[in-house]
Amino acid sequence: MVSLGGVEKQAKIPCRDLRAVGAAAVGTLLRSFPSSTTRGRPCAVLGPTFPAQLGDALVAVSQACRRPLSHKSKACLRAHNLRARVMARLPKLAVFDLDYTLWPFWVDTHVDPPFHKSSDGTVRDRRGQSIQLYPEVPEVLERLRGLGVPIAAASRTGEVEGANQLLELFDLVRYFVHREIYPGSKVTHFERLQRKTGVPFSQMIFFDDEKRNIVDVSKLGVTCIHVQHGMSLQTLTQGLDAFKTAQAGL
Ligand SMILES: [Mg+2]
Repeated sequence: MVSLGGVEKQAKIPCRDLRAVGAAAVGTLLRSFPSSTTRGRPCAVLGPTFPAQLGDALVAVSQACRRPLSHKSKACLRAHNLRARVMARLPKLAVFDLDYTLWPFWVDTHVDPPFHKSSDGTVRDRRGQSIQLYPEVPEVLERLRGLGVPIAAASRTGEVEGANQLLELFDLVRYFVHREIYPGSKVTHFERLQRKTGVPFSQMIFFDDEKRNIVDVSKLGVTCIHVQHGMSLQTLTQGLDAFKTAQAGL
């Protein structure tokens, strides 16, 4: 936490000046932050996750007051800008195929729905056959969630109910903001994801084991990663690196 001395003066700054820098709501933003004191004067206190527009607004306030930012505040803004640049190079949506990407089988042919969880916690199909994910899949999804990247599923399986049931039994549903699971070209899946999320194709990353899907979806401008031995942390890292490289080339 660092403090910015003198922000109480922001109340004297005409709103139009703040609007000029895209921060019309600065008064509300500052008032919404906890106050503190520096040498007996009230101050706004910035936490490590203050919103980007507040950083811009504070610079505007500082300039309008003709009062330079303190070293601590400058350091906070630099850290914030660095964080923003890192975030800008992460995808806004990560999309996963299911069969041979999250689990090592085709749900419509290799296993026999409906599925259930046995008393030992193992997910099994109707015949009692044990079913498992690729081992690093939960960690992959958890890592993306930790990075703040929303996750969706795009599968062309005809076994829609079985696929959804497996996502529930493996406790993966909580990671997916959208699930597009139905037969057909994955271009349709992505067009629907684009409409639902508002995320541009250029800000999406897609992991799939089938080359034909990679070819189709690449044409939309999505960064596509061909998964060859199931989803792993290494493949995730390679994918995020490929996304950063693609962004640098835009
Ligand atoms: Mg697949």
